[in-house]
Amino acid sequence: MTKSLPAFPYHPHPVATGSVVAADGVLCVCCGTVRGYVYAGPVYAVAEPEGRLCPWCIADGSAAARYGAHFCAGAVGDDAPREVLLAIAERTPGFSAWQDPQWLLHCGDGAAFLGRVGAAELADRPDAVEAMRREITGWGWPTERTEHYLGSLDKDGQPTAYLFRCRVCSAHLATSDFT
Ligand SMILES: [Zn+2]
Ligand SMILES: [Zn+2]
Repeated sequence: MTKSLPAFPYHPHPVATGSVVAADGVLCVCCGTVRGYVYAGPVYAVAEPEGRLCPWCIADGSAAARYGAHFCAGAVGDDAPREVLLAIAERTPGFSAWQDPQWLLHCGDGAAFLGRVGAAELADRPDAVEAMRREITGWGWPTERTEHYLGSLDKDGQPTAYLFRCRVCSAHLATSDFT
């Protein structure tokens, strides 16, 4: 338990976001080792692993290779090099969402996922709210419906929003389930 987690540039605090949890005595099915932490996010796999994965097997790509797995449903936003998309899909802990979660891309790179947020947390992130407002407006929603939706976002409920920060320009970005 003393060993620090591997670094995930696109998901810097996976314990804080709930995607990695402390788990004493739980074996990782990939490396067969008890590492003290297991992955708790989604696994999209050809042959689903029959057990838990440790964050080290995600970080080094061995879980992705062994199970044909990726941990994120897709990525949206700017174009990004294939190696970035692969790093996000195969070597980064994903996060659970009501719908298939999409990773946000910005400035030609993957953004860093910071966690689930609601309207209260987004009050400090006007840039992220503005980005969502633009996206929703693009669907032709009337202003009133858009503002009601943004105001109803709830960190622990539904709909919820997912906060990211661009690793290049540091802008905050957010996406939500839009149910
Ligand atoms: Zn492992
Ligand atoms: Zn950016």
